[in-house]
Amino acid sequence: MSKVIIIGAGGVGAVVAHKCAQLESVFTDILLASRTESKCKAIAAQLPRPVRTAQVDADNVAELTALLEAERPELVINVALPYQDLSIMDACLAAGVNYLDTANYEPLDTAKFEYKWQWAYQDRFKEAGLTALLGSGFDPGATNMFTAYLAKHYFDEIDELDIIDVNGGDHGYPFATNFNPEINIREVTAECRHWEGGEFVTTPPMSMMARFECPENVGSYNIYRMYHEELESLSTHFPSLKRAQFWMSFGDSYLKHLEVLGNVGMTGIEPVEYNGQQIVPIQFLAKLLPDPSTLGPRTKGKTCIGSLVRGKKDGKEKLMYLYNICDHEACYAEVQSQAISYTTGVPAMIGAKMILEGHWKRPGVWNMEQCDPDPFMADMNEYGLPWKAVELDPSFRLDVQKGQDL
Ligand code: NDP
Repeated sequence: MSKVIIIGAGGVGAVVAHKCAQLESVFTDILLASRTESKCKAIAAQLPRPVRTAQVDADNVAELTALLEAERPELVINVALPYQDLSIMDACLAAGVNYLDTANYEPLDTAKFEYKWQWAYQDRFKEAGLTALLGSGFDPGATNMFTAYLAKHYFDEIDELDIIDVNGGDHGYPFATNFNPEINIREVTAECRHWEGGEFVTTPPMSMMARFECPENVGSYNIYRMYHEELESLSTHFPSLKRAQFWMSFGDSYLKHLEVLGNVGMTGIEPVEYNGQQIVPIQFLAKLLPDPSTLGPRTKGKTCIGSLVRGKKDGKEKLMYLYNICDHEACYAEVQSQAISYTTGVPAMIGAKMILEGHWKRPGVWNMEQCDPDPFMADMNEYGLPWKAVELDPSFRLDVQKGQDL
């Protein structure tokens, strides 16, 4: 018997609920809880078997602890927002429940996500005999696994890493974000940091770009260098890395809108007083934008996300690319969600399965790459995110050019 509580009923929560419900032998009992219970009920109505729902404010540690104590699940799958990570970890410690999330903690008033707050829970989870798995989405998540799998099976030492996240999907809107708009815009407008020669080097957001040709006819896209949270854990856990960079594709229309919105102050996170009310511009903007969970039926095209790793094997330079391609329309046909929610929700389900089946059950706070990638990678193939590893000619380099002035 394995009981889980999924917290968060947005785009990602819906996919996690679908994928867990499909696997009754592992997830025998599921409770879907969120701030707005009607969203949980709407998701539950689409699922292949009965799933209970509950209302909970995950910012409120006492309220969440009471729910966990009443339900006694084995694991909480946190797919609410990064702001709730610490309060949910606190409640898990208080109630003796294992923990998993897909995005690292970010304080509401500082658009700077770092692992230091969650890594500080290491001793408390160890002493409680509980497992906390951080970042079990796609990026972070699958990309950490891709890197760890390549390092384990193809290299003696890895030197350079480029994570390349291409979304070739088109939802037909001039501007919309594929996951929570506030989190997405905070992420892409943040300063870029990449790992180079033993330290993080800071450059303006999106200031470097390259043209990337995806495999299997997915197409050719402009990718922009930005900071992404897995760079922090991967550079820590693979100290041989001399350089680690993250690249994401953006269309011209998205970048133009972002530039204008930034110029007029709509992406700001500081409250502004308007008619006697405190309004945070980015939160107001998020209200106006399409809800990411409604993009599913409109989105066509594919995602292609992978890790390009350069290193040495038997004294020779070697270059490997491990990637997954996911089709937006196929995801919608399976779970009524687009591929961004799907590619996040499936690794969250698999990470949960790794803990419940004991493969990754180890007291403490862990990033994905600290766990054995083999059972996870096998399940990626089994549960909807098949991958390929190809060897490239080591002379291949990304053709890096100047990008945008955001
Ligand atoms: P959504 O905004 O669609 O959903 C978030 C959900 O969390 C909503 O149901 C919301 O409730 C709920 N929630 C927010 N605050 C609370 C609270 N205090 N208590 C209880 N529930 C709360 O986000 P997404 O589904 O797009 O993203 C979910 C998470 O996945 C985010 O942390 C995001 O950063 C992460 N993510 C990770 C990726 C990866 O690859 N690693 C990629 C994409 C996303 P309400 O409906 O009331 O607002």
